[in-house]
Amino acid sequence: MNSQMGSELISTNPATGEEVGRVIVTTPEGLDAVVDRAWQAFHHSGWKNLMPHQRADVLRRIADRLQEKKAYLASLQMQDNGKPLSECRGMVDYAVGAFRYYASACETLETEVTPPRGQYVSMTVLEPYGVVAAITPWNSPIMNDATKVAPALAAGNAVILKPSEDAPLLAPELERIALEAGLPEGLLQVVQGQGRDIGSALVGHEGVRMISFTGGTTTGRAIGRVAADRVVPAALELGGKSPHIVFDDADLSLAVPAVLAGIFGSAGQSCVAGSRVFIHRSIYQSVLDQLVERTRQIRIAAPDAEGIEMGPLASFQHRERVEQFVERAREEGGRILCGGARPTGAEFEQGAYYLPTIIDGLGIDAVSCQEEAFGPVLVALPFDDEASLIEAANGTAFGLACGMWTESFKRAWRVARAIDAGSMWINTYKQSVTSTPFGGFKYSGIGREKGLEGLKLYGQVKSLFFGL
Ligand code: NAD
Repeated sequence: MNSQMGSELISTNPATGEEVGRVIVTTPEGLDAVVDRAWQAFHHSGWKNLMPHQRADVLRRIADRLQEKKAYLASLQMQDNGKPLSECRGMVDYAVGAFRYYASACETLETEVTPPRGQYVSMTVLEPYGVVAAITPWNSPIMNDATKVAPALAAGNAVILKPSEDAPLLAPELERIALEAGLPEGLLQVVQGQGRDIGSALVGHEGVRMISFTGGTTTGRAIGRVAADRVVPAALELGGKSPHIVFDDADLSLAVPAVLAGIFGSAGQSCVAGSRVFIHRSIYQSVLDQLVERTRQIRIAAPDAEGIEMGPLASFQHRERVEQFVERAREEGGRILCGGARPTGAEFEQGAYYLPTIIDGLGIDAVSCQEEAFGPVLVALPFDDEASLIEAANGTAFGLACGMWTESFKRAWRVARAIDAGSMWINTYKQSVTSTPFGGFKYSGIGREKGLEGLKLYGQVKSLFFGL
């Protein structure tokens, strides 16, 4: 668990309990100065009026610098939040790709012009908001930061980035890299501190004209209320309780490992973790047995160990939350089929480790089937037919993602259209690419990041009419 001492945030490695680094917490006066500097940069750096290819050049140089520093950044993120090194490397690659994608996207985004209409011709342009706040969670800092910063800059804005107090070390690196790459000073600034202090001050600041938030649903709703009151747009990427469906015609040699990777990858600390597996009753017990058997073999080790499948949770405090979640599932009548405890052994004593856990025997309305654990906890549920499956799969407040395994194209199409989810994975899971929009239905969020949608998020349409 990271801690704050006076004006410093101390980042602790959840695999060892050792200090990794410190950052200075931004004060309220400091925040005023940051916002002021951001507006100065927006108005006077000339950034928003550069030719798109000039902005794109800077974004590509940021991508190049990220690529050059990949080993260092991946290692820093691993220490900051405990994710396996291989996953952290993948997240740096993702960040590189995001800057490259939005470099190209801003070059190709066209202005819309109508044909002359009698006395006038009209066109629309995408104007930047000015100063945008980007607030990110602790689970994938470099990836989430890039997903917001790259399109916001591409659209011509100045960005104030507030990383999580539980993973604060990557954002300052991105700020430094952007400066080295030639981004004018003040266009990307980082503020640090607790969400309830600096986060809420940022969201409520009069100088912030758009908010892009990724994090928990409770926080997102609170931010949405402030944004509504201030009449500024808020893009909200929130939590999930995503269903992963295994039909009776599924290719189990692919489905079983995908279900496990879908929940136990990143130790379940992924917004799109497939945390409820629905299995057709005719194959329920045999699939469940396979899942449990393979889960018991999952290789848990220090995040930099070779061939590791799961590392520690991101903090000791977060492990306690996961433990409480499993305890409640027990009280609700759930059977813990594997896991449900900390691993034993000297190598796990200093870290926030927890065993991958599978639970069954719960009703769909149990709190454990409704709320996000954000940890390595999979709930298994049988289903009998498509109609009851769809009702159960849709029966939570969330709607972020869904996976489905079937050989029937028609069934895949029918079910995919009926499920409340921003992303549907059919015969695959957790695929993500910068060019494809991403976001949630229902309490999983508002707005779409990534793709051209993700660029348009950071601009407001202005219509221009010219008399002829
Ligand atoms: P969180 O909501 O606690 O915090 C997220 C960020 O918001 C942090 O930077 C925090 O400091 C800040 N914050 C907290 N309170 C605030 C306030 N009142 N005003 C402004 N900012 C505030 O979430 P977390 O624990 O860091 O992350 C886990 C959650 O994030 C999970 O629910 C997960 O599903 C979600 N998540 C969603 C996505 C997505 O794309 N949909 C991606 C990753 C994580």
